[in-house]
Amino acid sequence: MYPENEIFRDGLDDLAGHYKEILTLLGEDPSREGLEKTPMRVAKAMQVLTRGYEMDAHQVLRDALFKEDYSQMVIVKDIDFFSLCEHHMLPFYGKVHVAYIPNGYITGLSKIARVVDIFSHRLQVQERMTLQIKECIQETLKPLGVMVVVEARHMCMQMRGVEKQNSITTTSDFCGAFNQAKTREEFMNLIHNR
Ligand SMILES: [Zn+2]
Repeated sequence: MYPENEIFRDGLDDLAGHYKEILTLLGEDPSREGLEKTPMRVAKAMQVLTRGYEMDAHQVLRDALFKEDYSQMVIVKDIDFFSLCEHHMLPFYGKVHVAYIPNGYITGLSKIARVVDIFSHRLQVQERMTLQIKECIQETLKPLGVMVVVEARHMCMQMRGVEKQNSITTTSDFCGAFNQAKTREEFMNLIHNR
């Protein structure tokens, strides 16, 4: 689940020690064969899933600004993401769609996906993640407008039966030119026109 060359952060052994304790508290025997390596595996997995804390999303965009006169809407849709809800530390995952209207600068499309990756690899709530992605683009590219739409399934709701299976939570945030309903509509139509 993590790249071979992943570099793990300080505290990995402590983290594994705590997970061993957690297994006991859950009623398991952490010394049985199948669980022997589990605490370290979980510790590594959790470090990977929260690696976004050590990454600077603003810097990613600042390093990849290109001067360009293009001033039509730029859309990056269907960016897959996986995150952990900060209330239950269970996954929520889905798609992020981003639109912005350049004001002299554009960025690489893969960099937008990278920003999504960084903010999603932290403990999150969907609303804040949506806002953070929008602000990061707004503050670095300084476009005429940005809009971010996130569609996600929350395991904390689905697994506990709080919500119907397959329900999708949609959040959006926008600024600038997207304050106009017509501009938002144009984006929403382009997202859902699959
Ligand atoms: Zn939750």
